[in-house]
Amino acid sequence: MTQTPDRNLALFERAKHVIPGGVNSPVRAFKAVGGTPRFVQRAQGAYFWDANGQRYIDYIGSWGPMILGHGHPAVVKAVQDAVLEGFSFGAPTEREVELVEEILRLVPSMDMVRLVSSGTEAAMSAIRLARGATGRSKLIKFEGCYHGHADALLVKAGSGLATFGNATSAGVPPEVVQHTIVLEYNNIEQLEQAFVLHGKELACLMIEPIAGNMNFVRASVPFVKRCRELCTQYGALLVFDEVMNGFRVALGSAQSVYARALPGFEPDMTVMGKVIGGGMPLAAFGAKRAVMEHLAPLGAVYQAGTLSGNPVATACGLATLHEISKPGFFEALSRKTGALVDGLKGAAAAEGVPFCADSEGGMFGFFLLSELPQNYPQVMKTDGKRFNQLFHGLLDRGVYIAPALYEAGFVSAAHSDEDIAATVAVAREVFKSL
Ligand SMILES: *Cc1c(COP(=O)(O)O)cnc(C)c1O
Repeated sequence: MTQTPDRNLALFERAKHVIPGGVNSPVRAFKAVGGTPRFVQRAQGAYFWDANGQRYIDYIGSWGPMILGHGHPAVVKAVQDAVLEGFSFGAPTEREVELVEEILRLVPSMDMVRLVSSGTEAAMSAIRLARGATGRSKLIKFEGCYHGHADALLVKAGSGLATFGNATSAGVPPEVVQHTIVLEYNNIEQLEQAFVLHGKELACLMIEPIAGNMNFVRASVPFVKRCRELCTQYGALLVFDEVMNGFRVALGSAQSVYARALPGFEPDMTVMGKVIGGGMPLAAFGAKRAVMEHLAPLGAVYQAGTLSGNPVATACGLATLHEISKPGFFEALSRKTGALVDGLKGAAAAEGVPFCADSEGGMFGFFLLSELPQNYPQVMKTDGKRFNQLFHGLLDRGVYIAPALYEAGFVSAAHSDEDIAATVAVAREVFKSL
């Protein structure tokens, strides 16, 4: 029998000659799990097809944006209409105002929003604004949280609390990260010590409320409460990086999830991305008026972008927000995500595989561990070899999850109960083989 040539492999070889690692974002390269990345040919609903014509149930959804699934008709129509009116003007449009008004309606902790083109840009700009508005330099971030690849945020913990972080990337001089303090997620005691030491010099504390870049780890309610109290006490801005959580875990985003347990809770600043662009390059950051008025052209904090508030991207984002605002959307999505997580737990239990999982809205995570981790070191206790077997077992059977154990998963409105059931059945087969 002659083997059909593997087009994914051929494309990967070709790509590696001209693009570093063959990819335009590192985790796509399958470096953690081994094997050949799937080159996507097209996608529709809950599925995509690779270069060999193989179909996969997609639990990545472009790492979060595709909350409606691929090619939702209302979104496609909005984008097509927008394209015919023009791609980019470098002048303001009504649609930008409409999108920002819609974001503010759904996330009322902000009074004003600035649109940008990527989550990285939004987080980087939020830090600059926090520094400009407070006149302070230092910032706190947490190990395992990702806020894009701005220099000051590519930092891991240093040797002690009194010291500052070490850059996690070559090309970031130590002077650039000297103001970044990296703490353990969910560690209240460490947080308090850091504020005692540095609180009066802190511009902001930035956190992923439900961390999705160390798989899926919730900031505990007491931890978020303490973050809020300390920021208020010391005059630092509490920045929620909701690039992943925003419009994904709830219509009001993660801050609304925490406000359920902490009535009146609000962050000072919010960073958005992913879902608000519906798959187009669009992100945002916003805060109360007094903070946002520090931004150019009103204030002294410079920030700009040729493609910011792009008319096609804003059309895509608006159509997406319109769909997810429909009554019952998040209830249905949460139910489906819950069914997936419960199904996977049941399948693992039936095969005697240590397993735990959690979800909120359309975002989930699972671990080959018996207890949900609370911080990055605990996440990294997952048996990587076993995770890779699970990943490839699922992939071979047409289920596409993130190719690294420290990434979250995403369910879209297009995933049917049958897709979920099929995924659980496939997972059980793979668990049996582990
Ligand atoms: C994806 C992500 C970013 C970076 O967004 P990009 O659009 O990839 O630059 C920042 N913060 C969080 C929490 C993210 O998940």
